[in-house]
Amino acid sequence: MSFTTDLDFALRADAEDALAPFKNEFHFPQKNGKDVIYFCGNSLGLQPRNVEGAIQAELDTWKQEAIGGYFGGKNPWLFYQDYSKPTLAKIVGCHEKEVTVMNTLTVNLHLLMLSFYKPADGRYKIMMEAGAFPSDQYAVETLVKHFGLDPADAIIEIAPRDGEKILHTADILSSIEQHSSELALTLFSGMNYYTGQLFDMQAITNAAHKAGATAGFDLAHVAGNVPVKLHDWNVDFAVWCSYKYLNAGPGAAGGVYVHERFASDSNTPRLGGWWGNDEKTRFKMEKGFVPKTDASGWNISTAQVFNMVSLNASLELFDKAGIANLRAKSVQLTAYLEYLLQQLPNLRFEVITPADAGSRGAQLSLFFKERGKEIHDKMIENGIIVDYREPGVIRVAPAPMYCSFEDVFRFYEILRDHF
Ligand SMILES: *Cc1c(COP(=O)(O)O)cnc(C)c1O
Repeated sequence: MSFTTDLDFALRADAEDALAPFKNEFHFPQKNGKDVIYFCGNSLGLQPRNVEGAIQAELDTWKQEAIGGYFGGKNPWLFYQDYSKPTLAKIVGCHEKEVTVMNTLTVNLHLLMLSFYKPADGRYKIMMEAGAFPSDQYAVETLVKHFGLDPADAIIEIAPRDGEKILHTADILSSIEQHSSELALTLFSGMNYYTGQLFDMQAITNAAHKAGATAGFDLAHVAGNVPVKLHDWNVDFAVWCSYKYLNAGPGAAGGVYVHERFASDSNTPRLGGWWGNDEKTRFKMEKGFVPKTDASGWNISTAQVFNMVSLNASLELFDKAGIANLRAKSVQLTAYLEYLLQQLPNLRFEVITPADAGSRGAQLSLFFKERGKEIHDKMIENGIIVDYREPGVIRVAPAPMYCSFEDVFRFYEILRDHF
């Protein structure tokens, strides 16, 4: 696609976009009497129109069948954590038995780290990117303290080179190798929330395994944004939330992936509860935990039906659109945004997100050397929702499911005409 700076280009691109009709499947907040342009799907995705009916259906089942809802109704609650597996497996690239939904992200991160982090004499360190999302930093800090270790010693943070903002894969890999005798776990985000850098998960996993360590990832900014191949890449475990690109709403049940070589092994350590126990024996209430031999063996409590229903509704749209088609559009949409930004000679800013499409997803993080907050406020005033983080970073994430080329053009137009 070769871009031009006129509105006609955007309108033509939208007319040719097979995914354009999906915009109508979402509710948009209103500003100045019209739908806002929403570039914040990396923080909280919009509400799909089919969610309300799906929630109402479960309310009706509860109202009409009460306890019978576990076994009857349209979607028996007993198996509720299973309904999202087929689509999620496509989105994160794994077998259905390697994925489940439960709890929320940071809780799942703790649970999975408790399964996979086994500090031993000499091998007890966890490597992560410096500047990871705070919740991940807190989780790792408190986990090592839980094992009686000193975070300053047990956590290795990989920082960008002096004066740079993104990490070189080569630096990550060489650090893993350098620490190979003491490394127990690598825990990187699939994509850094601030810079939008997508990490080479396959290379990190290979290097971690070569070093004798386990590789886990937090895919909060990847799930529903960039398709990955967790199984083929041999990733050990991964967790993600469902309310960012997956559009399942605040507090929606989070996703968990466990590679089948661990998921099928009932001896893989875990903190258990009855929902992870084989259904055949669950209600016998007998002694002895018999985990299911798939990722659902990590389930602990009763399926959180009302935190899963919107996820299932949203995943119907992903199934219809196709994650590969969404990615193809997203690559174009983000490249178009970048192209338009390059046509603004008067603005002093830097795109801190990698320029290579293979190292980023829908998000561009723009570091404005001046007037960042002013630009953000002007966008909001004009009905364009973007996110601002000190010092001067505006994160713009045109999610391909409901953002158009025209939306991106309108963002550019405000910068062009007012700054
Ligand atoms: C959004 C996000 C979280 C939030 O975690 P919750 O437990 O869902 O509140 C954690 N980690 C990363 C990397 C995130 O992007």
